[in-house]
Amino acid sequence: MTLDGRRVLVTGGGSGLGADLAGGFAAAGADVVVAGRRPAPLDAVAATTPSISTHVADVTDEADMVRLFDAFEPFDIVVANAGIATSAPLTRTSLELWEQVLDVNLTGVFLTLREGLRRMRGREWGRLITIASTAGLKGYPYVAAYTASKHGVVGLTRAVAQEVASSGITANALCPGYLATEMTQRTIANIAESTGKSEAEAIDAVLEFNPQRRLIEPSEVTAAALWLCGPGSESINGQAIAIAGGEL
Ligand code: NAD
Repeated sequence: MTLDGRRVLVTGGGSGLGADLAGGFAAAGADVVVAGRRPAPLDAVAATTPSISTHVADVTDEADMVRLFDAFEPFDIVVANAGIATSAPLTRTSLELWEQVLDVNLTGVFLTLREGLRRMRGREWGRLITIASTAGLKGYPYVAAYTASKHGVVGLTRAVAQEVASSGITANALCPGYLATEMTQRTIANIAESTGKSEAEAIDAVLEFNPQRRLIEPSEVTAAALWLCGPGSESINGQAIAIAGGEL
């Protein structure tokens, strides 16, 4: 498969899955823009490949997002990947925590898809891909805000899929289980700190969710994203695809 001539946006592209997605799309021949709040990690990702460029933008800031899309020709592929994970039992979830998580994970995806689709309209082909989570498909304890936000991302993606169905554009959500990224390292550290478990026990608590008992590599999610952009993917629309070793 080649994505020569395709232009791709990856939000939250400075680390973890976003950085892997950027590398994967660039290796497939696409021109990639990584967007995020912090220039240094974005620049580090761009330094790996000449076809990756950067743009500083906060996905929760409407004006920032409009400026981002104004700065480039329309994107053929938009990957709404930026996200945060903050944990707390529901009774200790402050309104501030709730709003922060919903703001980045759901409103950020809304702004990304809306601007992406506004500029994709009238073109013959386009791909909107959201990075949701298994938490978009089932409940987990102590992450009510995250789980609600990711269920929202799945719902948003399904709604957009209906709106684009008569065009050559598709919208799908990828739903990974626990990934081998810094976000999961932070989750493991939080579990250890809040429960008194050792690091090994905290890792076990995370691995227990996945029947394959391993962390999922970002490259496995990138492979699914590339598949959604390849030939034969035209009828895959409005799906929430679990990449989770059989957890769901
Ligand atoms: P990560 O923390 O490495 O990546 C998240 C990226 O989003 C970071 O680069 C961060 O700077 C960026 N970001 C956060 N807030 C932003 C904002 N307001 N504007 C722009 N960028 C912002 O973690 P990751 O594991 O690579 O997560 C990528 C996506 O995958 C997230 O949406 C996450 O919810 C999802 N996900 C992660 C896991 C996991 O186990 N780590 C599992 C399922 C889904």
